[in-house]
Amino acid sequence: MRHLEVILIKPSKYNPDGFVQRFWKGFMPNATGRHIMSMTPAEASGAPVRVSWVDEYVYRPEEFMHLLSGSSDHRTLVALVGVQSHQFQRALDLAAFAVAHGCLAIIGGPHPMTCDTKDLQGRGVSFALAEAEQVWPTVIGDAAKGELQDVYGEGQRWAKELNASVLVPPTKGELKRYAMPMIGVYPARGCTFRCNFCSVIKIAGRQVRSQPVDTTIQTLRAAKNAGVRIVMFTSDNMNKYPGARELMEAMIEARTGLRFFCQCDTQIAGREDLIALMARAGCFQMFVGAESFDRETLIAAHKAQNRPETYRRIVDACRRHGIKSHFSSIIGFPNQDRADIREHVNRLLALDPDAASFYVLTPFPGTEQYGDFRRQGLLVEPNLDRYDTTHLVWRHPRLPPDELRRLLFECYCRFYRLDRAFGKAVRRYGMRPGRVMSSMETAVFNWMSGVLGRHPMSGGIGIRKIDHVREYLPYRRKLFGDVLAGDCVPLPDNLELSVSDEETNRKASPLPAG
Ligand code: SF4
Repeated sequence: MRHLEVILIKPSKYNPDGFVQRFWKGFMPNATGRHIMSMTPAEASGAPVRVSWVDEYVYRPEEFMHLLSGSSDHRTLVALVGVQSHQFQRALDLAAFAVAHGCLAIIGGPHPMTCDTKDLQGRGVSFALAEAEQVWPTVIGDAAKGELQDVYGEGQRWAKELNASVLVPPTKGELKRYAMPMIGVYPARGCTFRCNFCSVIKIAGRQVRSQPVDTTIQTLRAAKNAGVRIVMFTSDNMNKYPGARELMEAMIEARTGLRFFCQCDTQIAGREDLIALMARAGCFQMFVGAESFDRETLIAAHKAQNRPETYRRIVDACRRHGIKSHFSSIIGFPNQDRADIREHVNRLLALDPDAASFYVLTPFPGTEQYGDFRRQGLLVEPNLDRYDTTHLVWRHPRLPPDELRRLLFECYCRFYRLDRAFGKAVRRYGMRPGRVMSSMETAVFNWMSGVLGRHPMSGGIGIRKIDHVREYLPYRRKLFGDVLAGDCVPLPDNLELSVSDEETNRKASPLPAG
């Protein structure tokens, strides 16, 4: 039987100038691709299986596009993984290109899981509507036999339990593509809260499911041996993961020596014991979804669990234990105007977390907010490429798109103002010039990004403009031309949860604060 070549690709997106977004070095390697790679069997339906991984953000097209062509001596499955809405059109183009060159192609991830893709189905590209654990073994088996179904995973988005594999560690060559030798690991998935703008609860559900702690420890050991030095725990939120203490203790005992970055909700304010334990286990930065200082705004966004009066405790507790607090802010909530956004930055400066990031409120397709805005006729941006948290895509009652984008970059320039950042670094690190310089590197990068009007969290450094959407549009038009509006895929409807998934959500019991 012919062997099966599986090409896993994390697609990039198209920038406003039409170029595919690519970087000289990336910041964070994609966690989903490595996860799926680790789940891929060595043999399926009697055929040997070989798997390759491409993170489009840090690969040049000449390094991988030749893999997207069929061959008489093997079958090729091109799987676009972890596809978010702003990457969806890029994923469709790569899939259409692969199909035109004799490959099988499938698209999975947040967009097809949460949005209706019916009009795009049955044209040669398959769609995975459930998380990988639910569908990947069947997809691989079908691909080895030479034919994919139109759709996989309809009717049940989430696996009941996570039996994750130990992650295959990255090679030295892969690590070199990133600014730091880093890997992403998911010890748990799901969040019990109901923030109306959040896609996490639509992608991973409201029940927190976790993999065995030992699996995570084995993954960390393998990663360390492969040269990884930093781990990004991608779970939302680490403080709601019931196994967090056990994992931290196991990391301390295993002396992994790895430093890690994690995300917590603001109820971590009441858990200094956990913050202290995380610090001992290697946590160097904690990302906190604060979003706003205004209680009314938070309640309107169904994020009532955030109590701004507790933010100070998070910053202080992190500082006491040597962890950098990184506060995330959303700007452009419906009730905000220019003065409100500037006042938000004033309050953030007074709070003084070590790092901050800012995002434009984006009704992500698939979320509750997207459904509401769509029903109200508020969505004005027809191009999914722009649903990326740096553009205003809906009709804001008080702010035009250009002004909100200017305010976004103004937030970065103000928070990371260089004289302030230097004074802060000297106060904090005193006569340790190495630490002062490293703190200033971050500040300079963020400030400069604000000045240049580039979002610092966009994924990498050293922008490469190589290939353009016009090279791929013929493939998009050939497969999907009759459903396109202009050359854009029409904005989708949200995909409703099945009865079984609703049932899983209902079983999600609210976890105690912290
Ligand atoms: S707390 Fe964070 S992950 Fe949970 S629903 Fe809200 S935004 Fe989403």
